[in-house]
Amino acid sequence: MDIQLFNTLTRRRERLEPVSPPKVGLYTCGPTVYNYLHVGNYRTYVFEDGLRRALRFLGYDVQHVMNITDVGHLTSDADTGEDKLEVGAARTGKTAWEVAAFYTETFVEDSKKLNLLPPHVLCRATDHIPEQIELIRRLEAKGFTYRTSDGIYYDAAKFKDYGRLMGASHQEGLKAGARVELSPEKRNPSDFAVWKFSPKDKKRQMEWDSPWGRGFPGWHIECSAMAMRYLGETFDIHCGGVDHIPIHHTNEIAQAEGATGRPFVKVWLHGEFLLMNKAKMAKSAGGFLRLADLEEKGIGALDYRYLCLTAHYRKQLDFSWESLEGARSAHRKLADRAQVLAREAKGGGDADARESLLERFRACVADDLDMPGALATTWDALRPGGLSDADQLAFLQEADTVLGLNLCAVAGELPAELRKLLDERAAARRNKDFSTSDELRKKLAELGVLVEDTPQGQRWVRR
Ligand code: AMP
Ligand code: ZN
Repeated sequence: MDIQLFNTLTRRRERLEPVSPPKVGLYTCGPTVYNYLHVGNYRTYVFEDGLRRALRFLGYDVQHVMNITDVGHLTSDADTGEDKLEVGAARTGKTAWEVAAFYTETFVEDSKKLNLLPPHVLCRATDHIPEQIELIRRLEAKGFTYRTSDGIYYDAAKFKDYGRLMGASHQEGLKAGARVELSPEKRNPSDFAVWKFSPKDKKRQMEWDSPWGRGFPGWHIECSAMAMRYLGETFDIHCGGVDHIPIHHTNEIAQAEGATGRPFVKVWLHGEFLLMNKAKMAKSAGGFLRLADLEEKGIGALDYRYLCLTAHYRKQLDFSWESLEGARSAHRKLADRAQVLAREAKGGGDADARESLLERFRACVADDLDMPGALATTWDALRPGGLSDADQLAFLQEADTVLGLNLCAVAGELPAELRKLLDERAAARRNKDFSTSDELRKKLAELGVLVEDTPQGQRWVRR
């Protein structure tokens, strides 16, 4: 089935037409690893994982590349301030390299908890310095760069499409971005560093030789260089949060297309923010939450993933503990149902009825990733009196390849000691010894087995 996606570049929904179908090249901007990620960041990664799963579900063969920014991202987007990694090193007393390794590891661990499919290529900026230098050389050869006292800059005025991604004219584009103070050496406010020289007064931990002098790459050049290295000069889909539209992605396009003279990316997709107290959740804004903070309150990573699925990726999502609690209970209900079905569903059903619901599910997914619609269809499929248990289970198994909630993973038999407690409880109930049966219910709950009494006897789910 075809997929329709809203392309930031054209500001309309378009049918995806990959360069070489059924292959789809997908690049997603990864984290800057100087601190823990907050759940706002993870909203973007959950959306991108949903895209990747949706493409697979619809029959595409995705090659997913994600970068790790471990150098060059300065504290100010105006190409001033310090490298975030060096700041992280000063804060923690570790080396910049250790800081990068530590937060990359925490990102990978959190990603596993969120059931994010690992990228086929996870590439570090520091491992691709030669590719970045080569791209800057190409830009230099075509006259796109100039030298100032602190680095090599991209002259945005030389790129005729500068600002197109944000819907700005060339003139507007040159003035846009976050560059409030125009450094006297910059030709246009939007010009940005592709290579920064190491400061003379301070030793940097991360620096390399280059044709222009010792230093380090600007932030944006890594993504243009690595995306083209792994996906080719023109590829299919590039994603990130909406904050990347005016600067980072605008500059990625200017670098790549400036160098190659070809379109860089066919479809740009941007995820909206998770808001905290009406503002973007951000590391700099205080009040940010990590997955670990949610876990402390008994809310699992997949409960949070469920919350993300309840909002369309192009709509802002307000963080609140109430909505998170609601997501947790809905997710647990769904997961419990899946477990019981996996254990008990037998026999056949009505394949046509199941297929028509799956068709609806597929249509939601293909409609610019309508995950709230896909979730609603999933609940419809579980409605009593509708599909047979076997069909419900088959539906859930398919749907979960897109939802990524790990619904069908915990089923299976109980270890013998837990089975024994369940049997003892059943015996206690038969003997109308309700105090023992209540005690055993509590004990089982502590061991992660929740028991419910139904007309057919005890039913249990494992958490
Ligand atoms: P960073 O490490 O700052 O480059 O951010 C990593 C990713 O998280 C980027 O794609 C950002 O656009 C995204 N992001 C940052 N803050 C939020 C937020 N509050 N909600 C959703 N995505 C965010
Ligand atoms: Zn990027």
